[in-house]
Amino acid sequence: DTVHAPVVILGTGLAGYGLAREFRKHDQDTPLILITSDDGRSYSKPMLSTGFTKDMSTDDLAQMDAGSMGRMLKASVWTMTKVGAIDTEHQLIKVGDTDTAVHYGKLVLALGADVIRPPIAGDGLDRVYSINDLLDYDDFRTAMKKNDVKKVCLIGGGLIGCEYTNDLINGGFQTETVDPLGYCLPTLLPEPAGKAVQAALEEKGARFHFGPLVTEVNKAAVGVEVSLNNGETIVADLVVSAVGVRPRVDLAQASGIKTNRGVVTNRLLETSAPNVYAMGDCAEVDGHVLVYVAPLMAQARALGKTLAGEPTEVSYPAMPVTIKVPACPVTVAPPAEGAQGEWSFEIDGHNVKAEFRDSGGALLGFALTGEATRHKMTLQKELPAIMA
Ligand code: FAD
Repeated sequence: DTVHAPVVILGTGLAGYGLAREFRKHDQDTPLILITSDDGRSYSKPMLSTGFTKDMSTDDLAQMDAGSMGRMLKASVWTMTKVGAIDTEHQLIKVGDTDTAVHYGKLVLALGADVIRPPIAGDGLDRVYSINDLLDYDDFRTAMKKNDVKKVCLIGGGLIGCEYTNDLINGGFQTETVDPLGYCLPTLLPEPAGKAVQAALEEKGARFHFGPLVTEVNKAAVGVEVSLNNGETIVADLVVSAVGVRPRVDLAQASGIKTNRGVVTNRLLETSAPNVYAMGDCAEVDGHVLVYVAPLMAQARALGKTLAGEPTEVSYPAMPVTIKVPACPVTVAPPAEGAQGEWSFEIDGHNVKAEFRDSGGALLGFALTGEATRHKMTLQKELPAIMA
């Protein structure tokens, strides 16, 4: 019967574990199962890009193992278990390569996002790393040591690429960062703010190549040679690819659940299948794909109540994003896509205060760098909610 059928959560990232915590505040009794394809250790993913700055090993970053999480949450946590199919009609999920099927009362997809892998040729691809979870981090740190790395080439000058650039500089490494667009954080920041970040990182020794694409990574006498489509080459010991992430929608898609950019949900986080919900990086909530921590926390609070029998819609206040570039701190609240208005700037060296206002003067977004980040609270209060 569905009363005692378990709540099953797929994924043990900040979304899956965050939801389990919220759910247990309201319901101590319903059986709870969490299933993850990794080792189930809990960790804060944003800390992955501060590892050298804070001198943190993989074990330092891991907060609790799966067993401890299970005891704390009164849940069973199944690790190294990939879910391959969902039978939404009979409310069954198929785990691993076996015929084992698990019945769910409610199912939550908290599957995260995959890194996008740019099409790159060459025989040096085993030196190209993406760091999107704790196991990736461990591989990356091992490779940095094993190859006695002095210089790293980064593909991508967006949020993740700039954070790793700054972190590697802080770790004493040389960096060269390549991005086809024109300045740092090009999809998040207006140009003067992005240029300020670039200048601050360059003062710390970072080098940037804006405009070209990386086409090949080949083995060199020592390390690898990275070829750009403008004819330049960069010699480095290791390459970090950070060109962005894409919500994991395959499992939902294969199971007949509606997907678009992410797994499509309404504001109750319900997908198109009965008793199946989605949240975190994999979800597209009422049209919004927001791959950050603040939105998934808001989702966890709402869905925790919904699953405990009190249907609660998620709402989003204004949620500025802080980017961990200590050389030039950044806080940005990008205007909604298609918003009508204009940027205005106050620029003082690396300190940029950029405001995006409509013709009536209403604030619709902002970007702050350096010391101008002190204006965050004041401007945040003036912003409209993302999803009221
Ligand atoms: P994940 O943590 O990716 O969890 C997904 C889970 O699903 C994993 O447990 C995985 O094993 C499991 N899984 C996947 N497929 C299957 C399957 N088929 N079967 C079973 N299990 C499966 N956000 C901010 O707000 N501020 C920041 O400063 C910030 N910094 C960041 C820095 C870096 C380097 C990165 C990579 C991201 C950063 N983010 C930041 C984004 C933020 O970390 C993510 O939005 C958040 O961690 C996503 O959590 P999640 O639980 O949705 O996904």
